[in-house]
Amino acid sequence: MNIRSLWLAGIGLMAGAGPASAAFDVTAAKAGVARILEAEYPRLDALYKDIHAHPELGLTEVRTAAKLAGEMRAIGFEVTESVGKTGVVAIYKNGPGPLVMVRTELDALPMEEKTGLPYASTAKQMWNGKEVFVDHSCGHDIHMASWVGAAKALVALKGQWRGTLMFIAQPAEESAGGPEDMIADKLFERFGKPAMGFALHVGSEPAGQVSYKPGVLTSNSDSIDIQFNGRGGHGSMPSAAIDPILMGARFIVDVQSVVSREKDAGAFGVITIGAIEGGSAGNIIPDHVRLRGTVRSYAPEVRKGLADGIRRTAAAVAAMAGAPAPDVKIITGSTAVVNDDALAERTGAVFKAAFGDNAVRDEQPGSASEDYSVFVLAGIPSMYFGIGGGDPAKIAEAKAKGLEIPFNHSPQFAPLPGPTIRTGATAMTLAVMNVMQP
Ligand SMILES: [Zn+2]
Ligand SMILES: [Zn+2]
Repeated sequence: MNIRSLWLAGIGLMAGAGPASAAFDVTAAKAGVARILEAEYPRLDALYKDIHAHPELGLTEVRTAAKLAGEMRAIGFEVTESVGKTGVVAIYKNGPGPLVMVRTELDALPMEEKTGLPYASTAKQMWNGKEVFVDHSCGHDIHMASWVGAAKALVALKGQWRGTLMFIAQPAEESAGGPEDMIADKLFERFGKPAMGFALHVGSEPAGQVSYKPGVLTSNSDSIDIQFNGRGGHGSMPSAAIDPILMGARFIVDVQSVVSREKDAGAFGVITIGAIEGGSAGNIIPDHVRLRGTVRSYAPEVRKGLADGIRRTAAAVAAMAGAPAPDVKIITGSTAVVNDDALAERTGAVFKAAFGDNAVRDEQPGSASEDYSVFVLAGIPSMYFGIGGGDPAKIAEAKAKGLEIPFNHSPQFAPLPGPTIRTGATAMTLAVMNVMQP
C-alpha cells in the first residue's frame, strides 16, 4: 500500500484527546513492557531479520506462517494454522473479559530489494508465470515482529489485564483477498467475534513516532469502465448514425452534476474520467467510445450514491441518443479503513501518555489503501494506527541534501529495526491492555 501521504499528513499535527481508562496506569505499564522487550529484543531482532531475508508472496506464506505459529505456541497461545489458506489464529485465554483481535499481515511484494543491508532479501519466486524477486518492502516483517513482541509482553504481564487475545496473521494484504479468505473459513464462528480489533502500519517517519486518527483513515477507490454503443457512419450524415462520441462528451459533463448536485456538499467525493478511446478519423462516426475513470470517496453512502449516479447518467445519455444500453462496469477497489472514534481517542490518549510529543494525531485521511477495512466492515470496531520506521540520522541527512526519503514499496525502504519494533510492540501492548483492564 502507499501509506506515505497518510503519515506525512499527520506530521506536526497534535491535538488533545479524551482520557485514558481511569484504571490504567500507562507509565507503570510502559515501564513493565520496556523491561520485557529489553530482555526479548535479541530474539525479536533475529525473527525480524529471518522473516525479512525469507519473504513470501500472498497466499504462499507457508514458511512465514509456520514461523509465527511456532513463536506463538512457545509463548503459550493455542494456535490454528491454515485459516483461509495460509492464515494463522492464535488464542490466549486469561479470564473473563473482552475478546480482542490483533492483526498482522504475512505477505511481501514482487520486487527487488536494493537496500544493501546485510540481511537484505535475495529471494525469488514464481509470480504470474515468471520468476520475480521478493522483498518485504511494505514493512509487514516489522508488523510480524511487533505482533510477536506484543504477544510476549501481554502474556508476561497477564496479571494486569483480563479477557481473551485473538492474534491473527493474515495472508495476501498486497494482492488482496486475505481477510475475505479467513472470514470465509469461519474465522469468527470458530474463534469468536472480537469486541474490537487493532492493527498497525510502519511508514518512513522517524522511528519512535506513533500516529493515530479517529474516523476515516483512507479513501474508497473504485474504477469505472464505460462503453457507449452507437452506430457508425459517415461524418456528413449523422442522422443515419448514432454518435457515441457525442454520448461520451455529454456523459463526461453531466456526470459531474452527480458530484455537485446529488452528493452532500460537505462530503468527500470525486469522479474523474481519465481516458477516452474512440474513433479513427474526423469524417467517420465510430461504433463506440470507451471511457475510463476513477471514483473516490470516504463514506459508504457517498460511494453508493456516486455509483448509482454514474449508472443512471450513462443510461440516460444513451436513451437520449436512442442508442442501445451502454456497458457500465464499476470495479470495486479498496474500501476506506474507518477507525472507531471512541476506541481511537481512548487509545490515542494512552499513546500521548506513553510517547508524549512522539504521539501524533493525524487530522486528514490519507490516500492509502488497506484491506483491514474488511474486518471493520465485518463489524469489528477497530483502531488502525501508524508507527515511524525511519532512521532519524538518515532522515536528517536526506533533508539536508534535499533528497527523497525512501518510503513503503521503494526498493530502498529500510526501517530501523530496534526502535521501530520496540515502538510497535509497546504501542500495541498498551493499546490492548487499556481495553482489557480487570
Ligand atoms: Zn504495501
Ligand atoms: Zn502494507
